[in-house]
Amino acid sequence: MNEFDNAVKKITDLFYSAARKSGELLENTKTSYNISVEKDKIGKLQSQIGQKFWQIYKDGGEVPDFILSDLEAIKLISENIEALEKNLSENRLFKVCLACGAKLELESVYCPKCGERQAKPDDGGQAE
Ligand SMILES: [Zn+2]
Repeated sequence: MNEFDNAVKKITDLFYSAARKSGELLENTKTSYNISVEKDKIGKLQSQIGQKFWQIYKDGGEVPDFILSDLEAIKLISENIEALEKNLSENRLFKVCLACGAKLELESVYCPKCGERQAKPDDGGQAE
């Protein structure tokens, strides 16, 4: 082999080695993706198992003792969420009449209690 042939062989070897490495990387990326897809499936099934026990517990059925504390924790959190949502809807859906203090729907134009015309949200809070 002359110098030119040697150079061509070196470049060719480098090319194929790089191509093989990127092929391996691509294969590993695919494998990692497939692993995470399988792990997601397990996570969903575990969640479904939990939800089934939660439903049994809510319906007053028998559940294993070792998950009772977890189910009680879910119950407490659910009650907390309910209270927060109630708070949210109370704060969101009502305004207070500036004249008499009655609770009004946000879109009310007149107070049903005292008849006062209500400010629109975009007019700087001034009643007409
Ligand atoms: Zn009023």
